[in-house]
Amino acid sequence: MSLDINASIKAAYEAGLKASGGKNADYIPFLAKVPSDLFGICIVTVDGQCFKVGDTDYQFALESISKVFTLALVMENIGPEGVREKLGDSPTGMPFNSVEAIELNQGKPLSPLVNAGAIAAVSLVPGDSADECWAKILDMQSQFAGRSIALSDEVNVSEQTTNFHNRAIAWLLYSAGTAYSDPMRAVEVYTRQCSTLVDAVDLATMGATLANGGVNPITKKRVIQEGNVAPILAEMMMEGLYTSSGDWAFTTGLPGKSGVGGGLMAVIPGKLAIAAFSPPLDDAGNSVRAQAAIAEAERHLGGNIFRPK
Ligand code: GLN
Repeated sequence: MSLDINASIKAAYEAGLKASGGKNADYIPFLAKVPSDLFGICIVTVDGQCFKVGDTDYQFALESISKVFTLALVMENIGPEGVREKLGDSPTGMPFNSVEAIELNQGKPLSPLVNAGAIAAVSLVPGDSADECWAKILDMQSQFAGRSIALSDEVNVSEQTTNFHNRAIAWLLYSAGTAYSDPMRAVEVYTRQCSTLVDAVDLATMGATLANGGVNPITKKRVIQEGNVAPILAEMMMEGLYTSSGDWAFTTGLPGKSGVGGGLMAVIPGKLAIAAFSPPLDDAGNSVRAQAAIAEAERHLGGNIFRPK
């Protein structure tokens, strides 16, 4: 298996290098200035082995991948049925920040992995203050990564001062009755959760915790209940790459989640997770190189969950 993984990660890196095009997200000023040529891949297995190539110690903004861990936190509190009832469980087929996720579904945001559903998810995290709620979210990210994850003040300021569209989404949720706390508090904490820094090893460990049924394979600590893993992976399969989620499923058959910081995490349940990072994004907001790299890794390793074994 290790030999296979070494060869696969090398092939994935080559395939990623060949993929060109895309550009850094620029609607968040910080992201526009991250060096575009950074590229790293990491695989973490359920038995805790780690394989890496390229810029795997560069720390980048977690962005939308944070939605997975806040979904996990909320699901621990209210269960999959609570998530279905309050946030929705379906793909939107629309861009990540579309207000139509709310408008098309009588106020319920359809999916916890688009901005509307993710802001509503934050509003379900218990806490008397933004800081109390934030501490729980940061702790969940840290447990998944197996180390203390921290907020980047620079990313956070850049996002908090430009997140007007997300604030509008939060008020739409409020008017529809699906902001479950003060909407401006929810969007402020949502913006913080997008502004933490991870490297590719952290991201692969976070994915490997899902691959391993909710137990972090490095710390060996249970992070979430095993029963919550499958519904989270199902959400990732349906909505993890936004308007490209269908293409991604068709190509790789892997639950994945992207962020506009250039990170992409994919999970092969019961085996491993692959994370890749490269800032230039395609029109759907997904890293061009990371998609090419992970698709190639899947071709080598297998793992497409729809393929008969
Ligand atoms: N912070 C970003 C936003 O809400 C995250 C989006 C993303 O990574 N797709 O706009």
